[in-house]
Amino acid sequence: MLNLSKIQAITLDLDDTLWPVWPTIARAEVVLQDWLALHAPQTALLCAQPGVKQAIRAAINQRHADKAHDLTFLRREAIRESLLRAGEAPHLADAAFEVFFAERQNVQLYDGVQPALARLAARYPLVGLSNGNADVFRTEAGPYFQAAVSARVFGVAKPDARIFHAAAAQLNLPPEAVLHLGDDATTDVLGALLAGMQTAWVNTQGHDWPHDLAQPLTVSHLAELCDYLLA
Ligand SMILES: [Mg+2]
Repeated sequence: MLNLSKIQAITLDLDDTLWPVWPTIARAEVVLQDWLALHAPQTALLCAQPGVKQAIRAAINQRHADKAHDLTFLRREAIRESLLRAGEAPHLADAAFEVFFAERQNVQLYDGVQPALARLAARYPLVGLSNGNADVFRTEAGPYFQAAVSARVFGVAKPDARIFHAAAAQLNLPPEAVLHLGDDATTDVLGALLAGMQTAWVNTQGHDWPHDLAQPLTVSHLAELCDYLLA
């Protein structure tokens, strides 16, 4: 159970906690493919073949295992590798990535998330804490956030305790004074617990609790936490 009297700030996961991530990525991939068709047509043809994009990404992930926390780097290198394999100019990867990345920020908040964030932000400082490469300040959720910590910039990803501690340090608070909310039972909930934070599970995807550890307070939507936290 939460110790409400101790909570002085909230860290929030972004993807699949505030908005569904896969529709956004799928749209960004379409925009990228359209851009390639115009500017690097051989690459567009190559990437349209079944399984090719996935194989290239798997090869890049393996080649750069030390960059697993940096999805921006991996995405850009996968585009560069596609251009190389198709015999087109690899420097186009930078412009192509920017096209992908702009659309990747064009997220649609789950219904009710915006008013929930407004209510929470009126009481607590909110800090984004994400393994993905969404920039919360480029989304409709941006105005409610005081700061954001990303695995890409920090250098290690959740569930590593160090990234949770970095977020708490940014707030000048001990971990137990911070409540972390996220959709992933392991990277968010288990990670936060092991880092000494308080946590609740925003189980937007309807998963079963997979850990031996007692299941924490669980809701299916951020808004369900507001009345409880702000009572
Ligand atoms: Mg998530």
